[in-house]
Amino acid sequence: MDYKIETQCIHGKEGKIKAHSMGAISMPIYQTATFAHLGIGNSTGYDYSRESNPTREELENIVTSLEGGVDTVACSSGMAAMMICLELFSPGDHILCSDDLYGGSVRAFQTTGTRRGLTFSYVDSSHWEWVEREITKKTKALYIETPSNPTMKITDLSKMRELADRYGLFLIVDNTFLTPYFQNPFAFGADLVIHSGTKFLGGHNDTLAGFLCTSREDLVPKIRYLYKTVGSCLSPFDSFLLLRGIKTLPLRMEKQQENALVIAKWLQNQEKVRQVYYIGLPEHPGHDINLKQSRGFGSMISFSTNTEATARRALEGIKLISYGESLGGVESLMTYPLLQTHGDVPKDTREKLGITETFLRLSVGIENVEDLILDLEKALS
Ligand SMILES: *Cc1c(COP(=O)(O)O)cnc(C)c1O
Repeated sequence: MDYKIETQCIHGKEGKIKAHSMGAISMPIYQTATFAHLGIGNSTGYDYSRESNPTREELENIVTSLEGGVDTVACSSGMAAMMICLELFSPGDHILCSDDLYGGSVRAFQTTGTRRGLTFSYVDSSHWEWVEREITKKTKALYIETPSNPTMKITDLSKMRELADRYGLFLIVDNTFLTPYFQNPFAFGADLVIHSGTKFLGGHNDTLAGFLCTSREDLVPKIRYLYKTVGSCLSPFDSFLLLRGIKTLPLRMEKQQENALVIAKWLQNQEKVRQVYYIGLPEHPGHDINLKQSRGFGSMISFSTNTEATARRALEGIKLISYGESLGGVESLMTYPLLQTHGDVPKDTREKLGITETFLRLSVGIENVEDLILDLEKALS
């Protein structure tokens, strides 16, 4: 029997963690670059830490079990995981993406990806019919974020799988925002799941990490080969920090979501706030589809203010909440997507999405919600 998710976050799927040497409760940090061989043709199972390391392997196993996949590689950042994913494709291949992606993903696609001969196009994937219209003979994959970043659009994953089956495509999902605690894209037929482990999985705004998970046995050797070749692996110490972070993932996700719902409702009633984008609000256009494919809403809120001056005053006025990039940690952060995460997204695309001078993104942490609201109230006044 597999353990439930809260238990798996601490003990792994079958409680294998109990087998640590010396009875260590937490996974020791195997801070070593290389491993001695017992004899010719007789390895301990570990040869060189770029390829595999016991601390990192334990982390990879936990993420695989949380996502319900068959294998995971832990990388030095979310972008590193994505670059390995792009290496699975060949010149001429076309990847069709949600139009509202993490800005760094768009930058990677338009520079490194394009230089490798891949082509990318972007479509509002919350309308599955529009996705189908953009599929060409060259399309090899759908690349989806749900909820999207930063306008929180929801894409129907089952519909994406139907399209992927009909046209023979890979389905790739960036699951950073909801994490496996709330959403398992493999249960809806995804082939690959990408995470920025820097965000909710690490959870403390202190470590960069990324994961590329797969549900396809046939992709495992290819991904492992690329992984050891490219060399963007996660260090033993950072693997330990991620293991430590994941132990409290369920507690943090619940608390952050609880805070986010209170704040989203509060924002809706503020005179200087024009629109609130939070998938936990029943009036959010993707609310019902999200409920069909996930167990929660997470803690990412975007909102627009009445004027640019209000937005700028809010960013400079917050004291408890930090004005900074990133998300998902115990500390609440506010971001100005226009200048930060989405600064490299072309202007017309940005404006079409509504990422304007008045648009702000809030990652809600685990502080006391009344303190957070007081901070926002002062900053918005
Ligand atoms: C942050 C982020 C990434 C990139 O991850 P890094 O760890 O910063 O390299 C990718 N996708 C999403 C949705 C993100 O929020």
